[in-house]
Formats: sequence, C-alpha cells, structure tokens
Amino acid sequence: MYADRINSLPPYLFAAIDKAKQEVIKKGIDVINLSIGDPDMPTPPHIVEAMKRSVCNPQRHRYPSYEGMLSFRTAAADWIKKTMNVDLNPEDEVLTLIGSKEGIAHIPLAFLNPGDISLVPDPAYPVYNIGTILADGKPYKMPLLAENDFLPDLDAIPASIAKKAKLMFINYPNNPTSATASLKFFGEVVDFAAENDILVVHDNAYSEMTYDGYKAPSFLSVSGAKDISIEMHSLSKTYNMTGWRIGFAIGNRDIIAGLGKVKTNVDSGAFECVQEAGIAALTGTQDCVRGMNEIYKERRDALIAGLKELGLEVKPPKATFYVWVRVAGSSFDFTKVLLEKAGIVATPGVGFGEYGEGYIRFALTQSVERINEAVERMHKLDI
Ligand SMILES: *Cc1c(COP(=O)(O)O)cnc(C)c1O
Repeated sequence: MYADRINSLPPYLFAAIDKAKQEVIKKGIDVINLSIGDPDMPTPPHIVEAMKRSVCNPQRHRYPSYEGMLSFRTAAADWIKKTMNVDLNPEDEVLTLIGSKEGIAHIPLAFLNPGDISLVPDPAYPVYNIGTILADGKPYKMPLLAENDFLPDLDAIPASIAKKAKLMFINYPNNPTSATASLKFFGEVVDFAAENDILVVHDNAYSEMTYDGYKAPSFLSVSGAKDISIEMHSLSKTYNMTGWRIGFAIGNRDIIAGLGKVKTNVDSGAFECVQEAGIAALTGTQDCVRGMNEIYKERRDALIAGLKELGLEVKPPKATFYVWVRVAGSSFDFTKVLLEKAGIVATPGVGFGEYGEGYIRFALTQSVERINEAVERMHKLDI
C-alpha cells in the first residue's frame, strides 16, 4: 500500500518507548519524564497578549504570503543582527517557516535529485535523515564521536562521497549530544563545502539556550558562509513556543529561493497572528530567555551533581537542555531498566542513530525537585 520511500523510513524507536511508558503509568507508578525535548514552561505572557490582539484583526484571518510577512522577516533580521551580528536583507535572505522542522524537511526536495547524497550527522535530530529519504536522496552518515567532541570528522568523509554530496546538515548547539562548535570548525566546514560544491544547512534551534557566559555563533558569521549555506532558526525552544509552529530560514538568497519554491507549492505560509506573536517575541524584552536559562542551569547542575555521585561520566553542557550520558551496555536496555525499576523516562541514544548507542539523553524539562527525586531513585537502583 505504501510507497517505497515510506517503507524505507527507519523504525520509530520512540513509539516503543512511549508504549512502555504507558504500561508503567497504567500500573500506577509515578513516572518522571526526562525524555521530552519540549519546554515545560508556558509561552511568556507578552507573546500570548500579542497573539490575542492579532487574532481579533480580520485582516490576519486570510491566506498569508508564502514567504512570510515582511514585518516578521524584518524582526528576524534585526534579532539576528542583535544576537549574532550577521547582516541580512529581510526581502530575500529571510524566509518564515512553519517551525524549523518544516524547512529542514522541505529543503532536500529543492536540491536533491533521486540518488543524490546528503551528509547527515549521527546521532542527530531525525529530520535530516528522513527529509533526505523523502526526497529520494541518499543519506551518508557522519559519526559524531566523543573523541572528536561530537563534531563530524570532515577528513574521514571519502573524497568520492564528498564530490557527489549536494547537501550537508549540521546542528550546534547540538541535539542530542549538547556539544557546541567553534567558529574555527564552522570555517573548516565552509572550506570543505566550497571545495566540494555542497550546500550547508545549519540548524541553530538552540542558539539562545546557553549557560556560563557561552554565546552560540551563527554559521553565517564565518566569512564565505553566505555563499553556500542557510541557517534554520526556531522560536520553539527559545520562547517556549513549540506548539505555535514558527521559525525562519536565513542565508544565501538562491538557497532561500529554492526552499521558497517548495513552500509556495506545498503550504501557504504561517498564520499571520502567529507571525505577529513571533514579532513580539523577537523584538520584546529578552528577560524571559535569561530567566528560563537560569532555571535550566539550576536543573542542569542538580542532574550533573547527582549523576556524578552515581559514578556516571558527565560534563555540564554549555548549551541546550539535554544531558548526554555514557552508559554501559545497550542504551535501550538501560532506559528500560530506568523506566521499569525507577519510573524514569530517558531517551536511548540509539534512537538518534547507530552512533548514539552507548549513551542516553536526559532532557531538563522537569523541576529541580523532580530531578532530585529521579537522582534519588537512581541511587536506590544502584546503577
Ligand atoms: C526542537 C528542534 C527543532 C525545532 O523544531 P521546530 O519545528 O522549530 O519546533 C529543530 N532542530 C532541532 C535539533 C531540535 O531539537
């Protein structure tokens, strides 16, 4: 019944975890869910208020333009200038997205012919791989290994693959490893991509979720990057807006136009009220972002201290709300024990790709009290 491209999608491991979780809940066990990459705190009130005002304006009820409101794209360009010091023309170097996932999933359709290669990290957010498969492209995995600080080893990519590759996806600050990348590494990617005629898609969904004074750069701040790349941005994690579906792509105008061409034919743009709420988020006070980062930092410190006491090997991440922990044996079995014996849900690294095996991911989307409770339960488990 299904097309080959659907049949060839990798099995969705998270569905199995969800089922196991439901069974544990049914038994009446109090479950602490540390697996969700979705902020637990609400969207800040000034953003909700902007939505309320906008939704009463009948002009906003009509089809939006596919490329997004110029006012939103201008707010996005100004925000990028302020946070990352990159200059953009909002007319043709910024495109509104219905969440950045939408842009990531659609971009291979604009640039891959059947059988073309895209370079995708592993472990990774699954959409780089799946977007490639849905466009009948061929993903080539770039392992993210601890010994390389979870950066892809560009020298390890065979020349024959590099020559044939059309797209490369990278994501820093990284989900699931929480690794960050230096401008030096971004510069190496620009050189590699320029040499091999590859378009780079940098996913910067966690740019604002940083700690201890670390600031995540834009890939586009590297010289030459705008010739060969676009960067995906999302309001989801930064402003607790995952449900609103709003993000934007920035960078090379021809790549932006290619993605825009797909979007014109597939969707009709983001609801204008959501874009107006997005403008309020991007142009309003950023105290909410600082406040949330303080909360995540407290949770991070509580979890790291607890895991260290348990003898697990962990470093406090400089960014994202994930803690990536090395474990002995199968990551799936490890999370199964955590769930069934302690009522703790964590994500097995193998769910993010074969090179995620041997790790589990905790998300800091529960209160310090719940995190401390989880650590206590793990103590009793004696892992
Ligand atoms: C959460 C996340 C996104 C954001 O997706 P939206 O569609 O903007 O909600 C993108 N990339 C990564 C790596 C993520 O973890």
